Amino acid sequence: MKKFLLWVITLWLIIFALPFLAVSVKKSADASEKGQKNRADIDMGKEISVYLADSGKCVTMPFEEYITGVVCAEMPALFEVEAIKAQAVAARTYTVSKINANANDLQDAHKGASICTSPAHCQAYVPKEEISKKWGNNAEEFYKKIKSAVLDTKGEILTYQNEPIRAVFHSSNNGRTENASDVWGGDFPYLKSVESLGEDLSPKFLTEYTVDYKVFCDTVKKEYPDADLSKFVGDISRTEGGAVDTIEIFGIKIKGTKMRSMFMLKSANFDIKKDGETVIFTVHGYGHGVGMSQYGANYMASQGKNYAEILAVYYNGAQISMYNS
Ligand SMILES: [Zn+2]
Repeated sequence: MKKFLLWVITLWLIIFALPFLAVSVKKSADASEKGQKNRADIDMGKEISVYLADSGKCVTMPFEEYITGVVCAEMPALFEVEAIKAQAVAARTYTVSKINANANDLQDAHKGASICTSPAHCQAYVPKEEISKKWGNNAEEFYKKIKSAVLDTKGEILTYQNEPIRAVFHSSNNGRTENASDVWGGDFPYLKSVESLGEDLSPKFLTEYTVDYKVFCDTVKKEYPDADLSKFVGDISRTEGGAVDTIEIFGIKIKGTKMRSMFMLKSANFDIKKDGETVIFTVHGYGHGVGMSQYGANYMASQGKNYAEILAVYYNGAQISMYNS
């Protein structure tokens, strides 16, 4: 009797339950196909020509795909989504200002392309084919996260008086950003020194750089043959952001930014002292200190601020406008 009951139940399952199971599997397969189709259909924008600095080749790709590659290169993928969106808007703004730049300049530097992948000249960029080299097993997940942040801000750029702004950014500072005028000269009303919290979360918030005293003297003498080695450090003046504006070294007044480049310091926000035959620089923050701080943006995002609020702090007075990407 038991055997018979088991047989009846099995038969019932085969006749009634299996077709439902099959339908449900097919449904989820359909949904997954549909999802993939939708992703492929996403408009990544019109084409942009990019000069690949490493290979010397010019390629074209959809605009927002290029922006995704820039954000992959410029900001840690583990950062908060709203910070990544802020970075996407800054990268897009920079790109549009380059597109608008003088075509003759581009001809020389980029072989006619709108932008290049050299971080020293334009912006760093990671092609999609190389993300696994950068992120290993996390590559797909990180790329998806960044691409989604880019598409959530599709076409958005920062403008001031209807022109794309100079959307410069840096990794971290000492609690305040720098006035652009203190670093590069010129007046940029939206690039003023502002308070920036959470900077100490950056692993490069505080770095120490030591240099042999003789090497220090030789380096300064090479640039300034009149240097008087009997005096070490004299007056130091600082910018509103806290960086060294000028410092008297061996009787010569030297810009803090010049010291930064001479000794390859992480920033111009430093203290200096001599200990025996060693010169010690204690350096705060990483980068020029102007515009958006990436660690500051990440901290703001962690405190619940959205990308527009973050951008409004670091580019005060600029507004978000649409660019037809
Ligand atoms: Zn370039």
